Amino acid sequence: MARKFFVGGNWKCNGTAEEVKKIVNTLNEAQVPSQDVVEVVVSPPYVFLPLVKSTLRSDFHVAAQNCWVKKGGAFTGEVSAEMLVNLDIPWVILGHSERRALLNESNEFVGDKVAYALAQGLKVIACVGETLEQREAGSTMDVVAAQTKAIADRVSNWSNVVIAYEPVWAIGTGKVASPAQAQEVHDELRKWLAKNVSDDVAATTRIIYGGSVNGGNCKELGGQADVDGFLVGGASLKPEFIDIIKAAE
Ligand code: PEP
Repeated sequence: MARKFFVGGNWKCNGTAEEVKKIVNTLNEAQVPSQDVVEVVVSPPYVFLPLVKSTLRSDFHVAAQNCWVKKGGAFTGEVSAEMLVNLDIPWVILGHSERRALLNESNEFVGDKVAYALAQGLKVIACVGETLEQREAGSTMDVVAAQTKAIADRVSNWSNVVIAYEPVWAIGTGKVASPAQAQEVHDELRKWLAKNVSDDVAATTRIIYGGSVNGGNCKELGGQADVDGFLVGGASLKPEFIDIIKAAE
C-alpha cells in the first residue's frame, strides 16, 4: 500500500491572533496537490486551535502540539486528549524534542501519552531523534530505536501513527540533514519496525523528516525512498510552506 505524503506544520509557541489569521489566509488561497496526494496538518498553539479549526480550508487538518498523559482532572495547565476530541481536533504532536529536553519528557512518558491519545481516538505525530552528541558517538539508531520501542511497547494499532524523525541538531538550526542522512535513519527505522512490530506496520507507517526543512531543500529530501513527508517548524509560518507541500508532487 502506498504511503500518502504527509506535511505537518509545527507553529510552536508563535503568533498573535492577527498573525495566525494571516497564515490561515495564505494557506486557504494556496494551490496545492489534492488530498489524494498529500495530507496537510498544521499545529497552532492550543489557544488558537478553535480559530484555526473554524477558518482553515477543510482539506487541511489541525493538530495540537501536546496533550496530557491520562484523563484530565487536577493537572493545572494541562490540556487533555478528551478536550481535543471534544473540539474535533484530529491530530496531536507528541514527544517533540523541545518537550523531551526542556520539560524532561522521558521515552516512557511519551510512550504513555501516545497510547492514551490513540485510545481516545486522536491521530499522533510521534517525534524521535538524536542529539548531535549522540550522533557523534555513533548511537543515532540506538537512541531512535529506544524512543520508538517505548511507543511500540504500549501501542498495538499503528494505523493512526506517523513517526517524525527529527534530529535535534537539525531543529531550528538551519543545519538540515542531508538526503542520504535522512534516508539512512528512515530506512533503519523501517527495518526496526519490521523486526520488532510487523512487516505490515513497517510498510504502511509514514516516517516523516523534520529539521530545518525549507522550500529549497524539500524536493530532494522528499524524493528519498523512505521519507514520507515532513514536520516543518520555522518555515511553516511562512508562505514557503506551500512550496514544501508541493514537494509531494
Ligand atoms: C520542529 O520543531 O519540529 C522543526 C522541524 O523545526 P524547524 O523546521 O524550524 O527546524
